[in-house]
Amino acid sequence: MFGLIGHLTSLEHAQSVADALGYPEYANQGLDFWCSAPPQIVDHFHVTSVTGQTIEGKYVESCFLPEMLMNRRIKAAIRKILNAMALAQKNSINITALGGFSSIIFEEFNLKDNKQVRNVSLEFDRFTTGNTHTAYVICRQVEQGSAKLGIDLSKATIAVCGATGDIGSGVCRWLDRNTNTQELLLIARNQERLKRLQDELGRGKIMGLEEALPEADVIVWVASMPKGVEINPETLKKPCLIIDGGYPKNLDTKIKHSDVHILKGGIVEHSLDIDWKIMEIVSMDIPSRQMFACFAEAILLEFEQWHTNFSWGRNQITVTKMEQIGTASVKHGFQPLLNW
Ligand code: NDP
Repeated sequence: MFGLIGHLTSLEHAQSVADALGYPEYANQGLDFWCSAPPQIVDHFHVTSVTGQTIEGKYVESCFLPEMLMNRRIKAAIRKILNAMALAQKNSINITALGGFSSIIFEEFNLKDNKQVRNVSLEFDRFTTGNTHTAYVICRQVEQGSAKLGIDLSKATIAVCGATGDIGSGVCRWLDRNTNTQELLLIARNQERLKRLQDELGRGKIMGLEEALPEADVIVWVASMPKGVEINPETLKKPCLIIDGGYPKNLDTKIKHSDVHILKGGIVEHSLDIDWKIMEIVSMDIPSRQMFACFAEAILLEFEQWHTNFSWGRNQITVTKMEQIGTASVKHGFQPLLNW
């Protein structure tokens, strides 16, 4: 059995879907209430591969909300993630993906030092961040989306916002190794980490967001922002492909411009329907088939019986592992989302 630990994008989102999640009593409650709410298993489903194999999964709602980080409710945020992991393990789930901010909180606050959660001793090899598959899917979206728009990567500039992050650094490694992209723009706040990435790649221009965006043919957003930023489409190149891989979305603007194309980044579509309700709650366009690539990683690990923390730690994602999970992804019938 595989598991998915997820959370909602905001307090407003949580209040609006509390009923559908199965806890209507939370609908009128504020952040304090969500800070004390325990994790719950809210969905139980089956996934069938195009190979014919069927596996069983459970969805754990952690009740974490990004507002907990914005309001410095750090202890509550940590509690949410550890309790959700303990619940997954108690339910004998072999491999569970830490979706959205779950893995970011795990790393940022060193939760590997908090193995004991009441009577559960967490076994970290039962969990994966899902970031290797997410990085792979985003890179395929860059390649296939650019081709669809007639953007020739050998003449293109790609800006990666969140380049030094776990997913961002994997994306940069792939783009450097597997494509002939002309120029990479590396964006993040910490200059030391940016310099280290630039040294590792042996290329890439370190730039601020404002100056980088107008130069980019393709923009990959993989920054861990609890709230999206607004950008003015007039300042962007035309055509421009934007791949927003953040959860919550990194872009706060609803851009309506015929030459600016926004792809939901790190989302895959399965070839067969899945009997879950959870993807409707997180607003996928085709909820029976679309999902976050990190969740799909747990599904792939269960299909392949690779019961190991395939993606773990920070900045460990290699092109070889991206290719390995990518091969499994294609084999079992997943495709990167390509509709804008
Ligand atoms: P990390 O924490 O590893 O990296 C985040 C990156 O964003 C770092 O480079 C960080 O650098 C940068 N960053 C953070 N804030 C800002 C800012 N204000 N301006 C510019 N750069 C910023 O995160 P992950 O790589 O694990 O995840 C990235 C995003 O992908 C998250 O939104 C996450 O929720 C989402 N995600 C999506 C998945 C999917 O399946 N679609 C799966 C997993 C994650 P610095 O701090 O130096 O600025």
